[in-house]
Amino acid sequence: MDSSTRLNLVLMGPPGSGKGTQSVHLAQMYGICHVATGDMLRAEVAAGSYLGLQIQKYMDEGLYPPEEYVVQLVAQKMDTPECAKGILFDGFPRTLSQAEKLETIFRDKGQSMTAAIFLRVDEKALVERISGRFLCAKCGSAYHDTFKRPLTDGVCDQCGSTEFVRRKDDERNVIETRLKVYNDMTAPLVPFYAHQGILHVVDGMAEISEVSKEIDAVVANSIRNGL
Ligand code: AMP
Repeated sequence: MDSSTRLNLVLMGPPGSGKGTQSVHLAQMYGICHVATGDMLRAEVAAGSYLGLQIQKYMDEGLYPPEEYVVQLVAQKMDTPECAKGILFDGFPRTLSQAEKLETIFRDKGQSMTAAIFLRVDEKALVERISGRFLCAKCGSAYHDTFKRPLTDGVCDQCGSTEFVRRKDDERNVIETRLKVYNDMTAPLVPFYAHQGILHVVDGMAEISEVSKEIDAVVANSIRNGL
């Protein structure tokens, strides 16, 4: 990859498909910024900003807040030096309208999406995956009751904190709404990127390390093909 080309990736899949887990590794590996709109919106809520107050009720119920909030946050982040080599989008775009807005932003910057990676998972597995998740309260590292426990029980592998939290929208009664909203509003992005000829489907039911390997192969191939 030469310095004039940027690696712009989007990792897609339903809630619980492993986007967050895979994104951290992928963004580090290629030195690109990780734009996780869920994390950005949660930070706004935690900061108690005016924007945070507006969006919290949507997020707690598993609904999408109005897109202008999200697009504005993403556009600001894209202009930071952290994103100079490229961007890994995680949880954005989430609707066709957001995808079209992103196309416009890219066009204005003379950029484009390099590859869209879709993590295909069995919907029946998602409830167990989501309801078992917990996060380090200090650094946000993600864990799971069954699939990814900390190396030492009760201690974060990354920062050593002993405090953990569970997301309110990971509660079982909200998961169903999130999956429905995903199917209605976000799933249409799969054919959108397929139509652009940049869609790659990866088996998200495999072991975490296997999924990483498959994604790495897709990205390496995109780079070999000159982005
Ligand atoms: P996530 O962390 O990606 O699972 O997102 C958690 C929640 O944040 C979602 O259920 C939405 O309420 C909100 N959210 C995250 N990204 C977006 C987006 N691109 N558009 C609208 N809402 C979003």
